[in-house]
Amino acid sequence: MTNREELAALTSAVRRTVAEKRSRYLSGKGTSPTSNKPPERLTSLPPAAAAPTNVLDAFVDDPSLSKSDRLVRLQNHIGDCQRCPLGASRIRLAFGVGNPDAKVVFIGEGPGYAEDRQGEPFVGPAGQLLDKILTATGLSRGPVNPPVNWVFIANMVKCHPMIDPSDNTKRSNDRPPTPEEMDVCSPFLFAQLRIIQPLFLVTLGNTAGRALLKTEEGISKFRGRWVDFRIDGLTARLLPTYHPAALLRNPSLKKDVWEDMKSLRAELDK
Ligand code: SF4
Repeated sequence: MTNREELAALTSAVRRTVAEKRSRYLSGKGTSPTSNKPPERLTSLPPAAAAPTNVLDAFVDDPSLSKSDRLVRLQNHIGDCQRCPLGASRIRLAFGVGNPDAKVVFIGEGPGYAEDRQGEPFVGPAGQLLDKILTATGLSRGPVNPPVNWVFIANMVKCHPMIDPSDNTKRSNDRPPTPEEMDVCSPFLFAQLRIIQPLFLVTLGNTAGRALLKTEEGISKFRGRWVDFRIDGLTARLLPTYHPAALLRNPSLKKDVWEDMKSLRAELDK
């Protein structure tokens, strides 16, 4: 079976499971399907979920709209996305959070259990460690007083990749997104990057680093090395480092991440 056929089979299996759960709920024989609530919208701008991807070009680079408005348009365009199998089992889509005018965008692989419930990237234990790393580097996830460099945080995919997508209530049900899932979802990340126009990208972990650097090497080989990153509409410098979850498992990696953050700080201070 090809990857495409496997994805199609997985999509249809997940959709059947979700439909069965909804049907059980509606007939009063099951539990509430609150887990399948669509994500909240940032504003009431009209959704454009059915529009084709190239509709992104109509507003992503539109200088007459603020960056903030363009991000809202993008979020509404993504809507209740079902473009890949992850959409059928996710609870909330984690669009991304932070400064629409950020100089730095941090990119992880995908939402996990906590992120799926809150609809925001990096809010579980790894996210709390990321917040400490940001603070130590003079950066922040949100606006603070006195102001410091306010970043944007996103993932390669916006929905929770699960080992067992038939039960989105399970813990420890996380897996990295597949290359196919990242191929389908990455136009949304790239649209975010085109809107924000960051100077620097920091990839967190093996999956995001490999995907954006297009390498098969392991992260220990490429972390800490700046590379030029180009996509249509954006040129930035990219620094790969370890995922905070890896630091929780192996605290000896903190030293390398601290070196990488000092390198980022030095670039920001130039
Ligand atoms: S992961 Fe991306 S492409 Fe897949 S359903 Fe979610 S938003 Fe859509």
